Amino acid sequence: MPELPEAETIRRALARSILGMRVVRAVVRRPDIVTLTEPERRVRLPVALLEGETIESILRHGKQLAVVSRNGRAVGIRLGMTGSLIVRDRPTLLDRHDHVVWTLQDRDQSTRVIFRDPRRFGGLTCFPSRSDLNDAWRALGPDAHTISTGQLHRILSGRRLPIKAALLNQRVIAGVGNIYADESLHLSGLNPGIMTNDLQREHVVRLARAIRMVLSSAIRHHGSTIGSFSDPAGVKGNYQDRHRVYGRAGLPCHLCGKPLVQGVIAQRTTVYCGKCQTMPTLEPGSPA
Ligand SMILES: [Zn+2]
Repeated sequence: MPELPEAETIRRALARSILGMRVVRAVVRRPDIVTLTEPERRVRLPVALLEGETIESILRHGKQLAVVSRNGRAVGIRLGMTGSLIVRDRPTLLDRHDHVVWTLQDRDQSTRVIFRDPRRFGGLTCFPSRSDLNDAWRALGPDAHTISTGQLHRILSGRRLPIKAALLNQRVIAGVGNIYADESLHLSGLNPGIMTNDLQREHVVRLARAIRMVLSSAIRHHGSTIGSFSDPAGVKGNYQDRHRVYGRAGLPCHLCGKPLVQGVIAQRTTVYCGKCQTMPTLEPGSPA
């Protein structure tokens, strides 16, 4: 399932391919994956999907992407479990899961971008303006790649739930899923079961830094390919070879050599080191 580093990998590749190009055609083969937010809903679907518009920017917040036109129209992209964007420089046969196909042109060059989503947990949302897109994204927590200690402290204080569950909630912090939650918690030395209201400031400092470091490193390695992820040009990620804990239950911890433990938190498989990832000691007078 694509998380922030995979979404950012897609964003960068898409920006390299289609910025400044004009959408000459948007073909919707599966209308039920597109949501219109136009108040009157009278706009034609291809127009809502940027037909006739020039691509100005590709944005990302958390795991979500958006293509914004020069006139300010935007198409939000949720990748869900299996969503992907594919760039093709020449026409090819379409797959039955290719739900939307854009044809873009720049002088004599033509490119196609395909939204493919076999399991259809993802989808597209059309926004008439950039501010409508911003409103939708404001419902999400701060972007995990740039989150500050102060922001993380604010969003965690007053909540009482296991830290792993908080990290997975996109309304709390946007962009972290099961892989990068486990990776960040191991790097910060925090047990995934620690309750958020037991975290001390020093833990939050460590965690915010670990989240930023893990995500930056994963972006540098083009994300993790587990299953089917690849960027729009078909390039797979290689961060899965650097995972500290995710997918490594029973294998030795890179730090202490003890076998990593697997449990379930927030209904998700969770892998951690029982020795390196401690619970905070809360007895009076003990060092935090
Ligand atoms: Zn360890």
